[in-house]
Amino acid sequence: MEIQKIGIIGAGQMGNGIAHVMALADYDVVMTDVSQQALDAALVAIQKNMDRQASRGKISDADVKAAMGRISTTLNLPDVGATDLVIEAATERETVKQAIFEDLLPHLQPHTILTSNTSSISITRLASRTDRPERFMGFHFMNPVPVMQLVELIRGIATDEPTFNACKTVVDRLGKTAASAEDFPAFIVNRILMPMINEAVYTLYEGVGNVRSIDESMKLGANHPMGPLELADFIGLDTCLAIMNVLHDGLADTKYRPCPLLTKYVEAGWLGRKTKRGFYDYRGETPVPTR
Ligand code: NAD
Repeated sequence: MEIQKIGIIGAGQMGNGIAHVMALADYDVVMTDVSQQALDAALVAIQKNMDRQASRGKISDADVKAAMGRISTTLNLPDVGATDLVIEAATERETVKQAIFEDLLPHLQPHTILTSNTSSISITRLASRTDRPERFMGFHFMNPVPVMQLVELIRGIATDEPTFNACKTVVDRLGKTAASAEDFPAFIVNRILMPMINEAVYTLYEGVGNVRSIDESMKLGANHPMGPLELADFIGLDTCLAIMNVLHDGLADTKYRPCPLLTKYVEAGWLGRKTKRGFYDYRGETPVPTR
């Protein structure tokens, strides 16, 4: 099945990144959100990020102009129905995603493939509430989308092969690499990454090291490009906590219990870079450890 028109639901940091890479790969993009402000901000972010790529010689000014011309935005969810592939990238809350799919279903074409960019919610469960579980799957980009090479493709229990192959073809056309993952809590990347970040928070909580020594140790001792606490701030501590809770609940194993200190930071509203404070304080010129 030929995919040419792509619908994106949610114009946040992931949605705008997905629109960016799809438009540069010649797909027509329709992006929707409940907030006009989010749609406007997404277009500004995409333009800025593409201009940066152009200034580095990675793409031409003509590429930027053509790609921006392929992106349209709408507050009207049904407009997304007339596409070949829908990627839902709205807020990570199951009730939100469920309501979106419910409202969208009557407007979809019979052949449209539905996907979700969820980091942790069960694809099989989301699919089961639609009219097309065989044409439903997980399409999980990494942040920031234009930079990161990997896309996890997650089959729900009912996903059929033509659907998987159509999504794999899209990933190939983006010049990215697909990893196939089964539908178990947090899939592959976050299943491995989040317990490591959580363990780094335990290491801090127990006083084995401070923020700086933990991050330096993993950068210089394990050759990680970013320390685990710095990375947690980048991802968002609320997101890290939500994923640990999904692992803990879904796998019913105490080894996934979220560190109480992670919970404490989230309770304080210290969510990382997006709130200017997390394991580091970002309000000044250079980040300062908060512990
Ligand atoms: P975000 O908060 O930046 O953006 C979410 C957007 O969804 C907002 O603009 C919000 O207005 C919009 N929205 C909320 N309800 C909506 C509705 N009913 N209809 C349409 N739009 C709606 O969040 P994000 O970081 O872009 O995450 C989006 C999804 O991507 C989540 O499922 C998240 O788990 C997943 N994800 C996030 C990351 C990451 O590092 N942030 C990485 C991979 C996947």
